[in-house]
Amino acid sequence: MERRAGCCFRAVHRVTGPMTFAATVLTLYPEMFPGSLGVSLAGRALEERRWSLETVQIRDFATDKHRSVDDTPAGGGAGMVLRADVLAAAIDHARRGQPDCPVLAMTPRGKPLSQARVRELAAGPGATILCGRFEGFDERIFAARDVEEVSVGDIVLSGGEPAAIMLLDACIRLLPGVMGAASSGQEESFEDGLLEYPHYTRPVEWEGRTIPEVLRSGDHAKVAAWRKQQAKDDTRSRRPDLWERYTNARD
Ligand code: SAH
Repeated sequence: MERRAGCCFRAVHRVTGPMTFAATVLTLYPEMFPGSLGVSLAGRALEERRWSLETVQIRDFATDKHRSVDDTPAGGGAGMVLRADVLAAAIDHARRGQPDCPVLAMTPRGKPLSQARVRELAAGPGATILCGRFEGFDERIFAARDVEEVSVGDIVLSGGEPAAIMLLDACIRLLPGVMGAASSGQEESFEDGLLEYPHYTRPVEWEGRTIPEVLRSGDHAKVAAWRKQQAKDDTRSRRPDLWERYTNARD
């Protein structure tokens, strides 16, 4: 029997095909998703299928009759530790679904997340994100599976879910067609190793404070020079770590 390629199939393929950033989140709390990612910019992009979201309940990979995912820490101490065997089964399942996506585990012991890494991830097929709870993961999972440990800052959260939402939010806004003005991603903080310059808007005078004169001059070159100088001054005073890297890179 002759089969004609249905155009609707092709149309569907185009929408969910290569442009879709595939987010897979491994969590004990799938009800936390999409959370804030279902609203505003990310929410609209989800509706438009610029990214997709799948949650995987880690507990579904428990093997004992109590469906336990954690156990007490070897060597003693407070809290519970997520079991390597359960995590591995969940990771393996997710990897079968998205074989090309990197697997990232959220942990304060990981490499600090950077805008550069976010850009790389956003340019790729997606991200599979493992969210910890309790005291975190049995360390053997990192030797046994190809997992990138990522921290979202020198703070301790109660779980990896808000960290996963942060990471995904940062990626999603960079996906093609998500941000309004095509250029608005380029001038932002960290893109050139500096914090962004400060912004002002009307009213021109507020509580006796005025918008810097140069921003009202209409002289684009002067505005650009002023902004660059502000970005440098603010980076030097607020973030000596970034400033050192910026100046070293230009030596
Ligand atoms: N005992 C761990 C903290 C566990 S907090 C330690 O001291 O390093 C519980 C979970 O929250 C972690 O497994 C991780 O998934 C998540 N989490 C907490 N802080 C985080 C951070 N700064 N970055 C990424 N994930 C974090």
